[in-house]
Amino acid sequence: MRDVIIVGAGPAGTSTATFLGKKGYDVLLLEKEKFPRDKICGDGIGPTSLKYLKEMGIYDELFKEFQIINSALLSSPSGNEVNVKIPGSKALIIPRKKLDYILVKHSVKSGVELIEKFEVKEPLVENDKIIGIKGIYRNKEEIIKSKIVVAADGTHSIIGKRLTEKGRKSKNRYSAIAIRTYFDNVEDLKDCAEIHYEKSILPGYGWIFPINETSANVGIAMNYKRYKKQNKTIIQLFYDFINNNEYAKRKLKNAKMRQPLSGWMLSYDAHLNKKYHSGVLFVGDAASLVDPLSGEGIANALLSGKLAAQAIDSTLKTNDFSCLENYPKQWNKSMNPNLNAGLLLEYIMSYPFIINRFIKKATRDEGLAQILASCIAGTFPKTKMFSFNAIRRIIF
Ligand SMILES: Cc1cc2nc3c(=O)[nH]c(=O)nc-3n(C[C@H](O)[C@H](O)[C@H](O)COP(=O)(O)OP(=O)(O)OC[C@H]3O[C@@H](n4cnc5c(N)ncnc54)[C@H](O)[C@@H]3O)c2cc1C
Repeated sequence: MRDVIIVGAGPAGTSTATFLGKKGYDVLLLEKEKFPRDKICGDGIGPTSLKYLKEMGIYDELFKEFQIINSALLSSPSGNEVNVKIPGSKALIIPRKKLDYILVKHSVKSGVELIEKFEVKEPLVENDKIIGIKGIYRNKEEIIKSKIVVAADGTHSIIGKRLTEKGRKSKNRYSAIAIRTYFDNVEDLKDCAEIHYEKSILPGYGWIFPINETSANVGIAMNYKRYKKQNKTIIQLFYDFINNNEYAKRKLKNAKMRQPLSGWMLSYDAHLNKKYHSGVLFVGDAASLVDPLSGEGIANALLSGKLAAQAIDSTLKTNDFSCLENYPKQWNKSMNPNLNAGLLLEYIMSYPFIINRFIKKATRDEGLAQILASCIAGTFPKTKMFSFNAIRRIIF
């Protein structure tokens, strides 16, 4: 019997694993792919993600190898733009193929056992309690028991589908569809991440995130319900973006697409999903913890891993399984208010005239521009966007 089985070795699973491994627990990390593996993402590692990576002991080496981002450029459907310094610390763009490989190696160094190419098929249930997992490894069915299971298996979480409402409720108003690729030979790339709000993809945006001086991660994301209401495919919308958006057109005019487009869903229906279910904790995308305004999910994946590890540590130390309920309580306190405010902001940002107004005002009001950038970067509480002061600044 293992102490903890963690299903999925993305940012959420490796964060949980590293914190528990460092405490000396017997942790088994199961991953269906083999590293280094790709993951569809914008690769944006904001200041909040960097804060949690630093706590895990991964920081300085990232700044030596990857593209540092010092500012963000936001443009509105009406053509206004604002360029703001990234608040607090910096941000990085790190291709997930590289970031997740660094994370998983770090977990193993912390004492965690990793098995790759192990596909978990379902939780092992006894008397309504989860006591391990069933899966396929080297074409054979395997059963492994553990005191606690952590579901870190992403948006389409198999554990979530078996135990909760997750999956049945996805693809609704609280999810987005996103697509991205890499381009080489991109012009005029600097240490700046670009976010372009286009009328046709609201609520959502197109991005150009440099991974070095000449290559960039380029993609679009859009609320799924809105997407279903219009008549273009996500691929057509992507080509509209790169062919018609002034910034994308200019930067990509001689660029070469490095690999085919690939898409994935983002879900942010955290408020509808359970975070804890008798013996299982859900972390990261498996708990739908993506920020609805920015689509950033790595910061909450890392944070949820840390909070889950704290609750598991208390449980295993005391053998009191009610301590696992500290995890949803902590989640409620530290993530829920921001995610809920993000939902409201996502809805508000579906109106082009509001974004136009916001960005136009921000071009003349540096403080407002900082608030906007901090809000998207996750360093300014989104709840404060509804304060009298913030609303007054936007309207007058
Ligand atoms: C197009 C796009 C752009 C994005 N851009 C950004 C961005 O710029 N910045 C940002 O912060 N966030 C971004 N996100 C969100 C971010 O990618 C996710 O929030 C983040 O990856 C969540 O981490 P996770 O560990 O919870 O899940 P994942 O990263 O999805 O990891 C889950 C892991 O579980 C494994 N797994 C799944 N099922 C099983 C199984 N049955 N058995 C064993 N293993 C399994 C998978 O192989 C995977 O390794 C973007 C998302 C998309 C789709």
